[in-house]
Formats: sequence, structure tokens, C-alpha cells
Amino acid sequence: MKAGPVKLVLATHNAHKVEELRRILGPALDGFDLVGYDGPEPVEDGETFEQNALIKARAAAAHTGLPSLADDSGIRVAALGGAPGIHSARYAGTRDDRDNYTLLLERMRGVADRGAEFCCAAAFVDPTTGFEHVELGVWPGELLTEPTGTHGFGYDPVFRPEGRTVASAELTPDEKNAISHRSRAFAALLPVVRERLT
Ligand code: IMP
Repeated sequence: MKAGPVKLVLATHNAHKVEELRRILGPALDGFDLVGYDGPEPVEDGETFEQNALIKARAAAAHTGLPSLADDSGIRVAALGGAPGIHSARYAGTRDDRDNYTLLLERMRGVADRGAEFCCAAAFVDPTTGFEHVELGVWPGELLTEPTGTHGFGYDPVFRPEGRTVASAELTPDEKNAISHRSRAFAALLPVVRERLT
């Protein structure tokens, strides 16, 4: 390990996301100093979670000259051919969580196949070597018919994780962080980052 912590930029303007990732990763971040990013945000015009995560990580790496992490996430519903997918945040056109899940439940009314999965692509870009790597974390489950629960955000009130009897929005943040798509993606990515940077 080099002397002192290795700086890692998380390509988000949201300080809450930096804090959340610190909690998710815990000791996996030992030796790293995870910081936020306040540079320009790129157009996310990729066609997959992986492409969009890489676009964000590349922009932060290019702007700061530092190794960077980024993620892109959403929910894929089997009966809708994987929609809303990369369009999850703007599905209803308003960027409002309640509008999004209400529209999703409407489109799924009467549909028997409720299979769905949260996906998160976590990307790493090292501008010094040009090394890039992406990991996809998947959290399978099914869509409920009514929203329930008060924790989390986005589609958490309408998603029941596989093996659980309650909605994702009824899990505590720690319970969710232990098993979510985001945790899975970053838990897989961090050993690669450590290998390349230390
Ligand atoms: P992103 O910020 O571009 O990754 O967009 C993610 C969108 O997907 C969010 O706005 C949510 O609508 C949805 N999403 C991603 N992860 C979660 C989650 O853990 N719970 C609920 N919704 C999520």
C-alpha cells in the first residue's frame, strides 16, 4: 500500500451518495479516501447500465485526473421486456418517485408474472493507466400490487426482494445495504480497484 490513503472520486454531486457508499463498503474502503465530485456531468446516452456508469466514471476521471467510481441503476421488469431499465429515474416523465412507481403498477395491473430485478452497474476508471472495469449487481424479486413501507427511495415501496416477506421500503437501511444490487456491484468492484491501485 502506498503511503497515506489513495484518493477515489465518486462521480456524484450528491453528498448523501458518498456517505451511503462509505456505509455500504465499510472496511472494504480501508486505505481509500472516497470524495465527491463537483465537475461537469456528462450526457448519459448509453444503452445499458454498464455504459452509463462508465460514461460517468470517465467524465469524473478526465476532469479530476483521479481514479473514479460511478454507478448507474434501475429496475427491470420481466413482463415489460426489462422496462423501465435505464429509464427508471424518469419513467413517468417527472423524476418523481411516486409518479414512477404508480405508473409501473398501472402498467402491471392484472399481470400475473411479477418478476423484477434491481440492477446496479458500478464502474471504475483509472486515468493514469486507462484501465476500466464494470461490475453488475442484480437484486431479484417481484413487484407488489400496492406500495408499502417508508424507507428507501425510488421503487422500494413496490419491490419485494426474493426470500423476504416485506417490501424493500420496509427493510432498514442496514438490512437493504447488506443485500442490495448496489452493495453487490461495489462489493465485486472494490477488490479490482484495490488490486489496481495499491
Ligand atoms: P440513477 O441515479 O441514474 O442510477 O437512477 C436510478 C433510478 O432507479 C432511481 O431514480 C430509482 O428510480 C431507481 N432505483 C435505483 N436503485 C434503487 C433502489 O435501491 N431502490 C429503489 N429504486 C431504485
